[in-house]
Amino acid sequence: MVNNEKLLSVKDITKVFSIGGLLTGTRLTAVNEVYFEMGSANPEIFTLAGESGSGKTTLARLILHDIELTHGSIFYRGTDVTTIRNRKERMRFMERVQPIFQNPFETFNPLKRVDTYLYATAVNYGIAKSGESTDGVVDDALRSVGLSLQEVRGRYPHELSGGQLQRVSVARALIPRPSLLIADEPVSMVDASLRMSIVNLFKELKEKSGVSIIYITHDLATAYYISDRIAIMLRGNFVEMGPVEKVLSEPLHPYTKILKESVPKPVLGEKWKDKIELSTLEAKEFARVGCKFAGRCPSVMDICKKEDPKNFLLDERTVKCHLYAKQFKNSIL
Ligand code: SF4
Repeated sequence: MVNNEKLLSVKDITKVFSIGGLLTGTRLTAVNEVYFEMGSANPEIFTLAGESGSGKTTLARLILHDIELTHGSIFYRGTDVTTIRNRKERMRFMERVQPIFQNPFETFNPLKRVDTYLYATAVNYGIAKSGESTDGVVDDALRSVGLSLQEVRGRYPHELSGGQLQRVSVARALIPRPSLLIADEPVSMVDASLRMSIVNLFKELKEKSGVSIIYITHDLATAYYISDRIAIMLRGNFVEMGPVEKVLSEPLHPYTKILKESVPKPVLGEKWKDKIELSTLEAKEFARVGCKFAGRCPSVMDICKKEDPKNFLLDERTVKCHLYAKQFKNSIL
């Protein structure tokens, strides 16, 4: 049964890619039976964190209906996202769910003035009709990210800093008045000195404008600072999910513990990759039977190499690890 009170319900979704030729190719499960919900009553920032190849971006693309699911379902306010078929339905969905990309310099054509994107968005979504009202809509959106139309009008991307340009791309995403933003590594290409201003902007958008955000990052420090909940991803699986305070202060899953010690680097310079290229480690782990982390886990047991662990619910979070099977026998989800 579909709960209309949920902003987003992601139910056991899986995405399998075929890599290589028809005969020699392999199948790669980039997202494996992922489940989570976001409520509509209180806006929240939900972080997806993990190394490169963990499935974070693929999951974002599935939610945005940019790629097709292999199985499972995604509901936005009770409407099945996978049934979106035509441009009109897509525009209606995108009014409510907007992406923000990693590299603002790739979001904008260097030969086009940045304000033209804002005007086009206001017109395409039917937010403003006349020239004057369009100015108002664009200025309001820019002011909500700490800029103004006066500062941005007529400027080309190279005339703005990375931080300013990322703010413009957030302003563009806000024009249709979405209730959910999906931000993929939004601060990784921004100067370190300006990162916190963008991160604070997301916090403000949640608190003052009631916008929920799926924040995709490799940076656990900013995740800790702005998130309400976090999901740690490994080779397509949620291995630990729960309140950010609990997951990052007292991690239970061996991978979360290691991730806390060694912050992974994002893959920079690409908007969304259409081709999948795997490192040797990634390829090995994707192909592994049982727990995908068994090759690196300091607590590995025999069962880990044979059986995929189930999710156990404990202490307000889910943990996908055999270590908790005995302790929480009755808590299998
Ligand atoms: Fe480690 Fe086994 Fe838990 Fe995987 S299931 S994280 S290998 S203890």
